[in-house]
Amino acid sequence: MLKQVVILGSLFLFTFSSCIFNNAHSQNGDPPFPDEEISASNNLETATLGAGCFWCVEAIFQELEGVKSVVSGYAGGHKRNPTYKEVVSGTTGHIEVAKIVFDPKVITFEEILEVFWTTHNPTTLNQQGYDVGTQYRSAILFNSPKQKATAERSKAAYATQIWDDPIVTEVTPLGDFYLAEDDHQDFYSLNPYYGYCVAVINPKLDKFRAKFADKLKKPKIEEVSSIEKIEKTEEEWAAELTPEEFKVLRQEGTERAFTGDLWDNKAKGTYSCAACQLPLFSSDTKYKSGTGWPSFWEPIQAEHVGSKTDNKFGWNRTEVHCARCDGHLGHVFNDGPRPTGLRYCINSVSLDFEKAKEE
Ligand SMILES: [Zn+2]
Repeated sequence: MLKQVVILGSLFLFTFSSCIFNNAHSQNGDPPFPDEEISASNNLETATLGAGCFWCVEAIFQELEGVKSVVSGYAGGHKRNPTYKEVVSGTTGHIEVAKIVFDPKVITFEEILEVFWTTHNPTTLNQQGYDVGTQYRSAILFNSPKQKATAERSKAAYATQIWDDPIVTEVTPLGDFYLAEDDHQDFYSLNPYYGYCVAVINPKLDKFRAKFADKLKKPKIEEVSSIEKIEKTEEEWAAELTPEEFKVLRQEGTERAFTGDLWDNKAKGTYSCAACQLPLFSSDTKYKSGTGWPSFWEPIQAEHVGSKTDNKFGWNRTEVHCARCDGHLGHVFNDGPRPTGLRYCINSVSLDFEKAKEE
């Protein structure tokens, strides 16, 4: 009796997961997805793509607006529950793939494929750069006749426009998908200084971000509401601030990289607005960005830092300022480290630093 219940239970789970995820499996046989609640009723869609090492593919697609989640896994092979070791040995027939869950109302499968064609080389058979083997072959693993048609149309119309050599990308049914081991999930975000990430993924990400700037996720910043504003005339500010401070804080100037007092400051303490002394950032969220400006991944309190879109130099940036005096601080970008993924790039001149008292 007990056995029957177990069998019925697993049949139910299998049926449940397979209709949503095309026979997805995890390494331990459990229903696999962290985003398992995603279903057809949420009007989300999945795309499964092979484009070389899945660390790279995952890092790229998770930055796109409309992409809800990306996981790394194995598909297109013949062995059940393959391990990473088996897949990279090239004997199981699997491809390293990224499974992308996206909202087609925000980004279409076709647009996802445009990013796919642009961010890997679909003309090199079983190879991406230095990564060689059938596990790195270029592939679109479709999950519906509609996806198949879109993939073939995109391959013929888009890929051949941007590549001179023949496209070798497979367009093939998805079949069984196996979630890769935990170590391979979110690899780039968790290991940004790992050699491969710095040498191979960073340059790819830079090119991708420049080309698809209008398709990237925008930083999410809360509206400023509870701060009591300080308002002064520009003459009053000019009398109070040094000429450098006035230029940056009141005229949205930018100090030259590596010239400020605080970009390399490693002391523990609090960074406040140089004009009104509102606390803005803590040393706990400061990190070395390599840009030559103090960089933080989060304000000390969300409502202390305001933001607005800035179209200077012809590209969309998000300007950030002190919520109390409106003094310009710098910009926020979405290429920062975990947990927020944000980079608050701030002028030293806009900040006063107060060292924490020794315990
Ligand atoms: Zn201020």
